[in-house]
Amino acid sequence: MIDTTFEGFRYHKPLPNFYKIENPKNPKSEITEELVDGLLDLALRYNFSGISYSKLSDDFKKEFEIDFDNVIIFKFLMGDDLIEMEQSPEKCRLMDEEFQEYGLHVYEFADFLRKNGFAAELIHPLADDLSMRAIAMQSNDCMITRSNMCLFKEGITVGFFMIHTSIENLPFKEENDMLWVKDFCSTCGVCIDRCPEGAFDEDENFLRKLCTAHREGCNECLLRCPFYKRGYDKVKKRYDRMVKK
Ligand code: SF4
Ligand code: SF4
Repeated sequence: MIDTTFEGFRYHKPLPNFYKIENPKNPKSEITEELVDGLLDLALRYNFSGISYSKLSDDFKKEFEIDFDNVIIFKFLMGDDLIEMEQSPEKCRLMDEEFQEYGLHVYEFADFLRKNGFAAELIHPLADDLSMRAIAMQSNDCMITRSNMCLFKEGITVGFFMIHTSIENLPFKEENDMLWVKDFCSTCGVCIDRCPEGAFDEDENFLRKLCTAHREGCNECLLRCPFYKRGYDKVKKRYDRMVKK
């Protein structure tokens, strides 16, 4: 049954059924470039920053006990004005509002695929038993930074939603060309020095339980991160100069 009111994505609550079109009975598995472009155009129209694709490995599927392989990642950039706001309950509320508004459009993206003969299901963005970041990493299109942010080339403030689908021939990336980020982070450490909560252990590993980003809207480390201040390309140039020396 299809909901007529969208109450949002919530932890420990089932995914809202906000589709307008049912999945096809015999879904197709091959998509044309034209339709891939059409999906991207639709996402850009709603201010998403881009799309990435994850082909999940057998080991990964086993680890998370899932039975799908093909994932489309719809990325959006969180608003700088929100990121730069002082932490407060109001900031958390506004950030949630922004997240829910983007998420609502993802049902339309799934409907676009269903209408064109493909199976398409949203993945619960707040699932308890599945790591969205781990799925994102399978795209070979991002890296998890030392401060536990998911960095894509368009920015470190990317939020995302995901759809799994019957489409087998998506433009999956074979290799990750962002592996250098780990090395760069190991020379930086600004997030560790600036964290007011001490959310890193003595080996400088991130401690999720101590981080107040989601509870209170802390973005202290993010605001000081070179990837936020300068952007991906400039940091990459700096890194390339560093390793040449
Ligand atoms: S502040 Fe430095 S160490 Fe921390 S995530 Fe950003 S680049 Fe990496
Ligand atoms: S968001 Fe705040 S609490 Fe979390 S790691 Fe960054 S500085 Fe620390």
